[in-house]
Amino acid sequence: MIEDKNQERTPLSHLGEFALIEHLTKNFRIKHTSTLKGVGDDAAVLDFKNKKVVLTTDLLVESVHFDLSYMPLKHLGYKAVIVNLSDVYAMNATPTQITVSIAVSNRFPLEALEDLYAGIETATNIYNVDLIGGDTTSSNTGLLISVTAIGEVEEGKEVYRDGAKPNDLLVVSGDLGGAYMGLQVLEREKEVYKVNPSSQPDLEPYTYIVERQLKPEARKDIVKLLNDLDVKPTSMIDISDGLSSEIIHLCKQSGVGCDLYEEKIPLDPAVISVCEEFNIDSTTVALNGGEDYELLFTISQEDFPKIKANPNFTVIGFMKEAESGMHLVTRSESKIPLKAQGWKNFNV
Ligand code: ADP
Ligand code: MG
Repeated sequence: MIEDKNQERTPLSHLGEFALIEHLTKNFRIKHTSTLKGVGDDAAVLDFKNKKVVLTTDLLVESVHFDLSYMPLKHLGYKAVIVNLSDVYAMNATPTQITVSIAVSNRFPLEALEDLYAGIETATNIYNVDLIGGDTTSSNTGLLISVTAIGEVEEGKEVYRDGAKPNDLLVVSGDLGGAYMGLQVLEREKEVYKVNPSSQPDLEPYTYIVERQLKPEARKDIVKLLNDLDVKPTSMIDISDGLSSEIIHLCKQSGVGCDLYEEKIPLDPAVISVCEEFNIDSTTVALNGGEDYELLFTISQEDFPKIKANPNFTVIGFMKEAESGMHLVTRSESKIPLKAQGWKNFNV
């Protein structure tokens, strides 16, 4: 499939651990004054002065979270960083540093790790973060990659999941369901390839959704925009597991209920058409799909005029008293309780 045809294969054993770390990290430049010491000592040293520090970590495991038969390593490196930065933005914070830890088997040549780190480097440049350390070890099975992201936020600007109030508006950035449908297309093409290895997949009609799956972005722009508009969300979360389960997190932690309007859920036309092709309900995909990395947040009604003309935002519902429960209001105006189906990883 999207295989790397690069023929050069330098075994990792030719370098040894220290030369490997040095080789992979030598291009990274420190960008933040808060990074006093990055890669190269026993620990990094940071100085955030009067800022609050946020920290988040994620572990990605081959064949659980990614499939290298259609995930190019460069994209994997990029995505592993993005999923963490998204969590930092969801706190209304700005990411500043990352660490990257990998466990690799010797089936990976040096060139494969160079690709992985090229993706990591691209993400650090686009999102303006410093690579300040990590760990490197061997694995007897698949590839593991763990990224930790550190960010800063001015005191009082941090946004938690637990601040939503009844009557607050529920708002989402971007559109939903694309990453999940991109995955469905890639899985389908993988099955076709298994049966007929000479087949050439035509992914061109699916560019948008395949990119949503393979090369997601974190909504740095939304955090800036909200700040520029002088809107501080009352609660916020990033959408990694599907709209439904994220809404439930906000509601449960805030002690509120919610009405979500099916007709308001933002869907890209490409998602609608591929849902028709796969005969899947697009609302179900938006509710349970996951990996969109959009931001879901609540704002008080008085902030509505500040966001209402902005195409980046869609008001999809409003919060209620906890006793009202959490519901999807369908197009036919019936009410269905929201369920947290969550993401696929624990369905194995
Ligand atoms: P230690 O033995 O003290 O754990 P290492 O030899 O593992 O030290 O790491 C040396 C330096 O290289 C440290 O700064 C560490 O954070 C960094 N480092 C190790 N592995 C990676 C990696 N995969 N990516 C980025 N930095 C790394
Ligand atoms: Mg180490």
